[in-house]
Amino acid sequence: MPGLMNHAIIGSKWAMKSNSRFHLIGWGLVAGIAFGMIARATLGSENATLGWAVSEIFKPLGQLFLRLIFMVVVPLLFSSLILGIADLGEVRVLGRLGIKSLLMTVVLSSVAVILAIAAVNLVQPGSGISPEQSAKIAATFGKPDDAAASVEKSKEAKGVLQTIVEFVPENPLESASQPKLGGMLPFMVFAVFFGVGLLKLEPEKALPVKQFFEGILGVSLNLIDMAMKFAPIGVFALIFATTATLGVDALMALGKYAALVLVVLALHLFGTYSLAIAAIAKRLPAWFFSNVRGVMLTAFATSSSNATLPTALKAGEENLGIPRPVNSFVLTLGATANQNGTALFEGVTVLFLAQLFGIPLGIPQQLTVVGLAILAGVGTAGVPGGSWPMIAAICATVGIPPGAIAICMGVDRVLDMSRTVVNVVGDLTIATCVSAMEPMESTAAEAAS
Ligand code: ASP
Repeated sequence: MPGLMNHAIIGSKWAMKSNSRFHLIGWGLVAGIAFGMIARATLGSENATLGWAVSEIFKPLGQLFLRLIFMVVVPLLFSSLILGIADLGEVRVLGRLGIKSLLMTVVLSSVAVILAIAAVNLVQPGSGISPEQSAKIAATFGKPDDAAASVEKSKEAKGVLQTIVEFVPENPLESASQPKLGGMLPFMVFAVFFGVGLLKLEPEKALPVKQFFEGILGVSLNLIDMAMKFAPIGVFALIFATTATLGVDALMALGKYAALVLVVLALHLFGTYSLAIAAIAKRLPAWFFSNVRGVMLTAFATSSSNATLPTALKAGEENLGIPRPVNSFVLTLGATANQNGTALFEGVTVLFLAQLFGIPLGIPQQLTVVGLAILAGVGTAGVPGGSWPMIAAICATVGIPPGAIAICMGVDRVLDMSRTVVNVVGDLTIATCVSAMEPMESTAAEAAS
């Protein structure tokens, strides 16, 4: 599976480079909260000098960091979605095995996102904020008129057919340049079509195109890596601005959000996966989890599905006894295309930000978030922080200023570690279930053909 491997290797190299820097981001967060609270307590929240420092120094610094990430969204999203779809060429080669893995990926990701949406609607972690504070948040993290336009836009009702028609772009370049007018989704649809077209090309013509997009993906990841060098300062500046202007209420909401993400991730990990293991693979969940302990620790430590791939491959074959063709196919494909934890996290984050901004998202917009989060699970690179460009794109599509992601990025470290565990264990769950459904001789024969 050279294509899948290349794709995973690009990401895992990047993961190793950037992983060591993440503790500095944690310090940026802690220092931003501490200095923000001290400044607010000593100078008072309405102090003119503090207001000047926030708007002239800290906000621009934070914006610079965010723009370094936003500018990479289009090439990163386009190349990784195309390669994700093109890798499905392997699905065709592996026949039934591929279809079953793909179906399980879609079902498990859908359950993950639906759990996420239900939990945010139930707990409402971003709703305890007063309208004045929402306005302040909008002024800090997105242009206020953007937020007002978003509220208007979210009230627009369209017919189902018209909504589907608008998913298909007239001009993909125009869509990509209008993320705030909902252009990101049509652009992603174009990337999916492009990937399907690439799948249908004769192999010798498809190869240089794939190599080109692998290059674009590599360059995009390098740019994100460069931006992340600036992250400790960017996160410090953004969190300082939040704490100094909004005080502890916003931090409480952030704490509730982080706790909710962890609870729903645990529910999916130990609830949904256990059900699948018991019902489909007919094995005890305790047996499964005790055999994947090492993989869970590696995923937690590296925050990268791609960097965890070698450990997962070993555990799949040696501890869970998954036949090699199934094991290497499902796990390699899953490291890039099956990101259950990420899809769940994206769902919670987008709805939380909408609540924080006071932007009401109706059922159609929430369903758009479900669809986009599932698709974004395929398009997210399996590297630390891989989901942020996708979250920015989803936010823009449903009318939340993409700059809002800065609010959550400060607490992302532990959430990233945890969702990566769910991502990787999801791949092993699918591999275990598929190997139980597929008698060994037939998969081996199919894989060989
Ligand atoms: N860190 C995740 C992974 O590698 C991707 C993400 O959600 O940021 O699986």
